[in-house]
Amino acid sequence: SVGNKILGIDPSKLTIEKTTTPKDLLPPEQLVFGRNFTDHMLSLEWTASQGWLPAKITPYQNLSLDPATCVFHYAFECFEGMKAYKDKDGNVRLFRPDRNMERMNKGAARIALPTFDPYAMIDLIGKFVKLDKRFIPDTRGYSLYLRPTLIGTQRTLGVGPPASALLYVIASPVGPYYPTGFKAINLEATDYAVRAWPGGVGDKKLGANYAPCIVPQMQAASRGFQQNLWLFGEEEYITEVGTMNLFVAIKNKETGKPELLTAPLDGTILEGVSRDSVLGLARERLEPKGWNVIERKVRMKEISDAADEGRLMEVFGTGTAVIVAPVRKISWKNKLVDCGLEDHVEAGPIAIQMKEWVEDIQTGKEEHPWSYQV
Ligand code: PMP
Repeated sequence: SVGNKILGIDPSKLTIEKTTTPKDLLPPEQLVFGRNFTDHMLSLEWTASQGWLPAKITPYQNLSLDPATCVFHYAFECFEGMKAYKDKDGNVRLFRPDRNMERMNKGAARIALPTFDPYAMIDLIGKFVKLDKRFIPDTRGYSLYLRPTLIGTQRTLGVGPPASALLYVIASPVGPYYPTGFKAINLEATDYAVRAWPGGVGDKKLGANYAPCIVPQMQAASRGFQQNLWLFGEEEYITEVGTMNLFVAIKNKETGKPELLTAPLDGTILEGVSRDSVLGLARERLEPKGWNVIERKVRMKEISDAADEGRLMEVFGTGTAVIVAPVRKISWKNKLVDCGLEDHVEAGPIAIQMKEWVEDIQTGKEEHPWSYQV
């Protein structure tokens, strides 16, 4: 059926085919992000005439697709990145899965792929994660990274809305991004390539947004910088860093009051779940301590000036993979902007506090509505 009318996902129709060859678990310290996957996968097919067909959990396996399948030619693909955690009682918890499903639906709608009932999907993902629960190590810092993926599967070179699609979810056990908890990164402010622009799709998690960022990342890496700090426009507004949102803690020039700044959701910024969580926690827990928490456009020059004037307190990125990534230095216009970290530390107090608050909620140490027990 054309348009918005879709036949909904019915989680009660789920079928499960368990693997007969369960994988060995890797020792946790050998886990490399996104390299190892669990025993099973969750899949749902969609057709324009029938809507969503019953979901299946099957052994993890290859896809078989015709070479003419539209995803390979016109990038009909959007995805999500979210995590499942084991709490101290052994229960499995998802962190704000409604946010990821909502964002995925926005991406799907933008590239003419089918949308779905977020709560039916969360129900199915919960069943899948429970089945592969043994892959989630018990230790804090470890989790199961989930990769919901939606692709257009129509076999055609015609450029048009796909008449069929496949939504699948795979899961990869992951350790702490940095075993030490934190590792400050150095950024290269990037003006020779643009990640996203007004009216574009940079606020959607489309696969097509990621491949073009790799060459600039390699260029930055060749000069010794781990990530690009994507600037936008003549004003050189700071937008995002690598695949993270960016926060800047600064003392206000006039009042001296501490401010936590991040770019506004103007269509060029991915609506990070970590970004929203840090903003929410900062408003709830830092504002009473005298902070101002502000979403506004920030020029790179402001950060550089603040550093020169001793007002730059901290800079950090936020994202599901790391939660918080502190920034030590930013290369900009042939100068190195010092982001206020002393040489012997890897993170500032706000980054440390935010990571702790978020992790406590993710792992159920602090009971919070953001943590969803499956
Ligand atoms: N920006 C980009 C471009 C990203 O790919 C991601 C990772 N999803 C983020 C920001 C951070 O988003 P989240 O906090 O939801 O992981």
